[in-house]
Amino acid sequence: MDDLISVREAQERILAVFTPRPAVTVPLAEAYGKVLAQDVAATQDMPPFDNSSMDGFAVHCADLSAASREHPVSLPVAQDIPAGTGDVAPLRPGTAARIMTGAPVPPGADAVIPLEDVDLSRYSEGFVLISRPPRTGDYIRTRGQDLPKGTFILQAGKKLTPQDVGLLASFGYAQISVISPPRVAIFSSGNELLEPGSQLQPGQIYDANRFVLSGLLREAGAEVVDLGIARDDPRDVLAHFQAALDHQPDLIVSSAGVSVGAFDYVREVIEQHGRIAFWRVNIRPGKPVAFGNFETVPFLGLPGNPVSAYVGSLIFLLPVIRKLRGEPPLRHRLETATLAEDVESDGRESYLRARVEEIDSGLFVSLSGHQGSANLFALSKASALLILPSGVKSLPAGSKVNIWRLDRISS
Ligand code: AMP
Ligand code: MG
Repeated sequence: MDDLISVREAQERILAVFTPRPAVTVPLAEAYGKVLAQDVAATQDMPPFDNSSMDGFAVHCADLSAASREHPVSLPVAQDIPAGTGDVAPLRPGTAARIMTGAPVPPGADAVIPLEDVDLSRYSEGFVLISRPPRTGDYIRTRGQDLPKGTFILQAGKKLTPQDVGLLASFGYAQISVISPPRVAIFSSGNELLEPGSQLQPGQIYDANRFVLSGLLREAGAEVVDLGIARDDPRDVLAHFQAALDHQPDLIVSSAGVSVGAFDYVREVIEQHGRIAFWRVNIRPGKPVAFGNFETVPFLGLPGNPVSAYVGSLIFLLPVIRKLRGEPPLRHRLETATLAEDVESDGRESYLRARVEEIDSGLFVSLSGHQGSANLFALSKASALLILPSGVKSLPAGSKVNIWRLDRISS
């Protein structure tokens, strides 16, 4: 066990190699999901002009102080103001203006009465009847009421949500400075691997890892260069690494071929064309996690078994993507849950596939299936990883454990 390094040490040594990527300016339509590289301030008052929040009639309150059901006030409708009107004539006292939602309030008007609150029985003759005095400011969104010009609206480092992009659009930003997305080249390795869609021959299995990896990477905001499957042949493995360099990735990630098997050529090729910093971590599943560099490009070698590759990605790869994107480190939002069944592991820091249930405001956790590191079904059913610390080989039902909910991995 001597050459196994701890999960934390592996994470720290990997992260230390990376720095945030530079900023680039992108069209606003491409900004969603990217990380803002500049503080952003309101370029104008919001709303930019006084406007109506309802379809209705703009009025002078002073004309209507005596309005009542018994004695409605009749006002001539002097103008019609659709949304988008640029030059709005002032509202003369003793008149009303028909106004649409979002249209500029005419100078002089100090309230809008919604359409549903007026009597339109004389509208064809040019009059509107009002039977209740409005209050000053009713249904008028005044200039700057949401945000005065100059207010800081978004901070550098924020991952842009659709709402944020909408906010930027509302202030007229056509392009914005964001951290350029990290680029990750991925490939699988193994003679047994086949692309889904082809007919399996005896001894073959479909490649699952590239699909797990590219999904995780894209979700985390990285660009993926998918280089396919490398044969168990040092020349083909080398060719895949060299193809990766053409894309100038921040990182090359492969799966399988870094263990102690006779055909594990990935490690061999890295040792010849770069350096292995470490290749065994005290984690279950997925002890054979290799890290180093191919020529000058950092390299992460994940285990071959799909569940191990997934767990290794969550723990070692996603933090790198966050760092490259200039996002703050994810404090893995560990929660405490009560074990609903006995569990066992082998003393490595273990990330078991589990389901969490909330019962009477307490969290209860049980395994989502058998814990084989090739069992993607149990992983797919899992809503959390159940974490056993290094050195713990079994825990009885009722114990308190840490869990990491999978629907919260990137927030
Ligand atoms: P290895 O690291 O090459 O010894 O692979 C460990 C196990 O993972 C073997 O059972 C492989 O068949 C399996 N494996 C490797 N790569 C993949 C992959 N891309 N998709 C699914 N299973 C894989
Ligand atoms: Mg293999």
